[in-house]
Amino acid sequence: MAIERTFSIIKPDATRRNLTGQVNACLEEAGLRIIAQRRIQMTTAQAESFYGVHRERGFFRDLVTFMTSGPVVVQVLEGENAVARNREVMGATDPAKAAAGTIRARFAESIEANSVHGSDSAENAAIEIAFFFAGTDLVG
Ligand code: ATP
Ligand code: MG
Repeated sequence: MAIERTFSIIKPDATRRNLTGQVNACLEEAGLRIIAQRRIQMTTAQAESFYGVHRERGFFRDLVTFMTSGPVVVQVLEGENAVARNREVMGATDPAKAAAGTIRARFAESIEANSVHGSDSAENAAIEIAFFFAGTDLVG
C-alpha cells in the first residue's frame, strides 16, 4: 500500500466541546500522522469555496453558517492509504449510521455538526491541502 496524504478538518462542534485532542488521538491510533495542523476561523468565502461542490444542495447555506460558527482545525494526515483510512475512522456522514467506535459515532451531534471532514479522493485531497497549506507547511 502506498503512503498517501489526506486533508482533514476538525469542525466547530468538536472545537467548541474541546475535543481536538480526542479526535487527534483517534487519528493517530488509526495509524495516521498529523504532518500539518492549524487552528483557524474560516471565513464565509473560504467555506463557500471549500464546499462549492454542494452549492446547489438544500443544506448549503446552513453548512457555510455552521463551518464559520467557530474555530476549526485544518490538518494534513499522512499514512498508508490515508484517504480511505481516514474515511474509515471518521465513519458515515450521518452519525446515526456511523459504525461504532468511529469519530462520528463517538462525537458527532448531527448529520451537519458531524465533528470532522475528510477528503473523499486523493485528487481532492491534493486540491484541499493546497487550499489551506503551503508546501513548506507540510513536515512529514
Ligand atoms: P465531509 O465532506 O465534511 O467530509 P462527507 O463527505 O461525509 O463529509 P458530504 O456529502 O461531502 O459528506 O457533505 C459535506 C458535509 O455537509 C457533511 O459532512 C455535513 O456536515 C453536511 N451535510 C451533508 N449532508 C447533509 C444533510 N442532509 N443535512 C445537513 N448537512 C449535511
Ligand atoms: Mg465530502
